[in-house]
Amino acid sequence: MTKTKHPIYLDYQATTPLDPRVLDTMMPYFTEKFGNPHATNHRFGWEAEAGVQLAREQVANLIGAGSEEIIFTSGATESNNIALKGLAYSLYPDKNHIITAMTEHSCVLESCKSLERSGFKVTYLPVDADGLIRLDELTDAITAKTALVSIMTLNNEIGVLQDVKAIGEICAASQVAFHTDAAQAIGKIPLDMANLNIDLMSISSHKIYGPKGMGALYIRNNPAIWPLALFDGGGQERGLRSGTLSPALCVGLGTACKISGQDMGKDSDHITMLSEKLTSLIMGKLTGVHLNGSKEKRYPGNLNFFFEGVKADSLFRELRNIALSTGSACATEKPEPSHVLSAIGLNKKQIECSIRIGIGRMTTIVEIDQAADQIITSILKIRASL
Ligand SMILES: *Cc1c(COP(=O)(O)O)cnc(C)c1O
Repeated sequence: MTKTKHPIYLDYQATTPLDPRVLDTMMPYFTEKFGNPHATNHRFGWEAEAGVQLAREQVANLIGAGSEEIIFTSGATESNNIALKGLAYSLYPDKNHIITAMTEHSCVLESCKSLERSGFKVTYLPVDADGLIRLDELTDAITAKTALVSIMTLNNEIGVLQDVKAIGEICAASQVAFHTDAAQAIGKIPLDMANLNIDLMSISSHKIYGPKGMGALYIRNNPAIWPLALFDGGGQERGLRSGTLSPALCVGLGTACKISGQDMGKDSDHITMLSEKLTSLIMGKLTGVHLNGSKEKRYPGNLNFFFEGVKADSLFRELRNIALSTGSACATEKPEPSHVLSAIGLNKKQIECSIRIGIGRMTTIVEIDQAADQIITSILKIRASL
């Protein structure tokens, strides 16, 4: 058998490799520590429950929360569904209005559409060319009927950071709950629930080097808000999320959070260095390149470039040795132009010529040099053939 070389992985917003340190802590929970964490009569159950409880504390520690404020879920998609639908249903009919942004992840936007079909009103705030909502527009949109504001912390397509501190203050002043989808942000930038007026926050394990199919929802204790459960059963997770937890997945998320907290400074320096290197190589050798979204309010590990005249499809055909994406892994079933790039004002042609480059913990300087080289060569080749 011939050994095939793996392509260079530059799609860290779609998912991240499992950190080997995470896998090590998960393994015993697949084998000898196989107990049901909800079985309270014997050692097998206690052992599994101890793993789950430590994981809950590790998730809470990363965000300055209490462990009783963490609900385990199957991922950020489920957390977003519980936060949006569960909270909206719990406040209905006193409140019947939701505010979100046009650039949210599809699971937030689709949850909002589902709520609209159930009779809720939804305001979809536009964003400016930087990809950021206007705070005065948010303030103006809030009414006495508003149940919830849901604005993501870090955009998965263009890497821009909304001002969640200011958004939280606006919501708190109006006594409206604030939910943020922090799937891309947690573990990468500091997020301290003690200093932010965030009431609900969605977390995904596989974006921070943990296992797929795992996530969490932070729900602030004080003031007490409590979403309606979306499904019924044994009443696990304080009645909000019935079903037997997977201790191995919980432990994986917990370790991923612990490592992300410990290594945040190191990861951030590494990723910033690589991001700046890649950007300067590309910008230095090519004309007609634009970074989509805010230049300042962004996470450096997510670069979304518009290359004039170079369709992403043609570029991907040239770059078979690099794993890149156009932005949203979740929208690949329906080849519509990115709703995020159109919201920041790009036209169809410009969107077709945009790609996302994701850099992460395991990316090396050699990979960045090679990727820059191949991207530049391919773009020059495609442009020469036009
Ligand atoms: C990946 C992602 C999700 C979905 O998370 P899953 O854990 O895969 O369900 C939701 N929101 C954002 C911003 C994401 O990046």
